[in-house]
Parts: sequence; structure tokens; C-alpha cells
Amino acid sequence: MNITELSKVMKECGVVGAGGAGFPSYAKLNEKADTIILNCAECEPLLKLHRQVMAEYAKEILDAMHEVALAVGAKDIIVAIKPNYKQAIAAIEEVLPDYSDVNARIGLLPPVYPSGDEVITIYEVTGRVVPAGKLPIEVGCIVYNVETMLNIYYAIKENRPVTHKYCTITGAVKNPVTLKLPLGMTVKEVIALAGGATIDEYEIVAGGPMTGRLCAETDVVTKTSNAYIVLPPSQFVVQKKKANTQVAVNRAMSACCHCGMCTALCSRHMLGYPIDPTKFMNALSAGATGNIEPYVNTFFCSACGLCEMYSCFQNLNAQTLISVFKGGMRKGGVAMPQVEMGPVDPIRSQKLVSHARLTARLGLTQYNKPAPLVDVEVKPKTIKIMLSQHIGAPAQAVVSRGDKLTAGQVVGAAAADKLGVNIHTPFAGVVQDVNDKFVKVTI
Ligand code: SF4
Ligand code: SF4
Repeated sequence: MNITELSKVMKECGVVGAGGAGFPSYAKLNEKADTIILNCAECEPLLKLHRQVMAEYAKEILDAMHEVALAVGAKDIIVAIKPNYKQAIAAIEEVLPDYSDVNARIGLLPPVYPSGDEVITIYEVTGRVVPAGKLPIEVGCIVYNVETMLNIYYAIKENRPVTHKYCTITGAVKNPVTLKLPLGMTVKEVIALAGGATIDEYEIVAGGPMTGRLCAETDVVTKTSNAYIVLPPSQFVVQKKKANTQVAVNRAMSACCHCGMCTALCSRHMLGYPIDPTKFMNALSAGATGNIEPYVNTFFCSACGLCEMYSCFQNLNAQTLISVFKGGMRKGGVAMPQVEMGPVDPIRSQKLVSHARLTARLGLTQYNKPAPLVDVEVKPKTIKIMLSQHIGAPAQAVVSRGDKLTAGQVVGAAAADKLGVNIHTPFAGVVQDVNDKFVKVTI
């Protein structure tokens, strides 16, 4: 397949980043790439889907990487993975010799957070630093995660659309588990599949404890869901995600001692990015407006959460405030500044935050249990398929109430001239309701 053919099938089959913001995967294809990186870092505590999917489908995933490399003309294929994912590594090593026409190798990542931030992943396995405000292609790299690559495989080989999402269901549940879930099923049904909550009162984090958000039981699985974590309402992670912005500002004004720890451990600052949470907190808490740099440089924050969830011994909310500020600038039309990169911190390797220490700091060690990948068919009675599951323009509904659908049929079509992908139904059924936000289907 050439780039045009590959791009077309990926868009039609609805492939987006399986996790994170859901960037449409076809839009990353670029003939300037010399390296394709598979991101199998899975650096958020408690998440256990990628390593298991990798161990199960190494051949399919490597086949897809190879196809992508051939299409864009890349010569290097790197599987970025942590050394402790032994089963996944064994599965990769078995199939790696099949791709001798390219330079295929494993790139070991340190067991730290956030090694799965693609900027960090690229640095760890190639030594290249993506300039602030630029995309990985600027340094010749295309990065996809494990499940995205598996979805690319199905799109290329079987023209099979994305209709399901692997998720780890863990925390205070009876049987932590990793399942392949149909798009559109409710979080309540998902939690029941793990045997239900083991506590009466709880909150649910959708996604990892660092970058995820609190969700409702009525929310539904989308292409970017990757975990549901049940936690007590008083748990540290839950409390952090409930931070009130005004209270956070007041606390910063009264308690930030300008110690600098949040900047010292900032994952992007250590790579030479101009984001500086200490300067931002100083400026904000002092009401300083003479120098706008600490404010506008919040554009270069990756929202990894380290400054807020790990680094600050005063338990302040730097990342929450940075995110609010960054969102306000975007809304107000403030342009991202052109900046010079600084050097990579010479003692960066000694300051990286270990996965185990982070898990302990978040109070999650007791929940860090196996969540085995179980192959069962999950079929709810109704599903609510969201039309916006990715960055870019939402898909437009192309079905009407009462329509009979076949499994895999397009229910939302991507606009031809806008960034976006098609959205499909996982099951045959009848359209019960449709509007510009979702399509509800009775199975
Ligand atoms: S969330 Fe904090 S630590 Fe992470 S990149 Fe942003 S400022 Fe740095
Ligand atoms: S780590 Fe906390 S106390 Fe120290 S500068 Fe950052 S926000 Fe302030």
C-alpha cells in the first residue's frame, strides 16, 4: 500500500490514537518519516492492557508497523517497551527476524513515568528531542501505540473497522480484569464485568490515575478509553481530580514556598522545554504580570501531572492551574510563542520518577494487582455510540431512527475535507435515537 491507500483505509476504518486525545492516525502518515516507533510504555500506574495485547498479537502488530514503514519509506522500526514486560518482549523477539528488510529493534525504556509521553518515548529510544510546539515528524518519527497499531493491522488486512476498545478495569473491584469492550457500553456495565465495586461509595477514574478524569457511571466507552479505576471518594487521586480552581489559587498564594521541585522534576522542562511550573506558580501567586513568559510558556506543558501529583510537598495544584490557564489562552486565540529550546538536563537520568515510587505516592500500591486479559464476548442490550471520539471534526450521523444496522456499519461519517474519521457500530441492531452527539442502538 502507498501512503494514499493506507491513509484512506485508516480513515474509513476509523483508526485514531487508542488512548490519549484520539488523534486520527492517518494524519500522522508522512514520507519525511525515517523511523516508526511503537509505544508500549504503558507508564500510568495500574494500567495493564498494552503489554498483554502486545504479548498476544505481536505478529499482527509488527506486520502493521512494517506496512506503515514501507508506505512512508521509513527504514527503522523500534518497539519502545519496558524491560519488565517480559512476555511481550519474548513475543516480539520471536517475530522480529521476519522484518529483515528494515532495521527492526526493541528500544528499552526506563521504568519511569511518563515514558509513554511520545516526546519522551522518542528521546529515550532515538536520542532525538522534538522541538517545543512541533510534532514528532519534525525529527523524522511517527509514533503509534500498541492497540492503534493492531487496529491498523485489521484495517489493512481485513478492512475491519474500529468497534471495540481494550480497557483495564481495576481498583476497588472484585476481579480486576482487562477486556475488549464494545464502543458505547456504559461504565456501569463495565464495572459489573469486573465483579462490581467492593466498596459502597466510590468514584471512577476513566483513564490512568495521572491523566485520566473522574467519570459518571452513565458515561460510555469510546475509542480513547483505556481504563476504569474504582476508588474511594477520599483517595488522594480522586481528591486531586476534584481540585477547585479558586481554592487552588488561594492555596498557591499562601503555601507555595518557591522551592523549585515542580520544575526540577518536570518531564518536559528536563528535555529543554521552556515550561517552568515554579515560575508559573510564583507569578500567579504573586499576581505578577510584568513578565508574561511563565504564563505563555504553559503552552509547552504536556499535562503529565507530575508537578501536582508527585513533586510538590505542599500538595499544591500546579498542573490544574496550568491547564486552566492554557485552556483560557487557547479560547482567547493566544498564539503559541516561537521559542528556543534549552539543553537537556545533564542529570535528567538521576531525577526520573520511578513507576513504583509514583504508584506508592499516589496511594495505589494496594490496587496494583494483575488484571488478566480475558477473551469474552461482551454484548450489552443497548449502546450509545458517541460521534466525537477523536480530535478534529465530529463525525456526522448518517443513520436515522428505526434504521436496521449490520455489525460494522458506518453510523457517523467523517467530513471529506476535515480532520476526522468514520464511526461504526460494533453490533447489528436498530437505531433507537440519533442526534448530533450520539447514535443509540438497540442490539
Ligand atoms: S504537568 Fe507539570 S510536570 Fe508535567 S509537563 Fe506540565 S508543568 Fe511539567
Ligand atoms: S513544588 Fe509546590 S511549593 Fe515548590 S515551587 Fe512548586 S508549587 Fe511551589
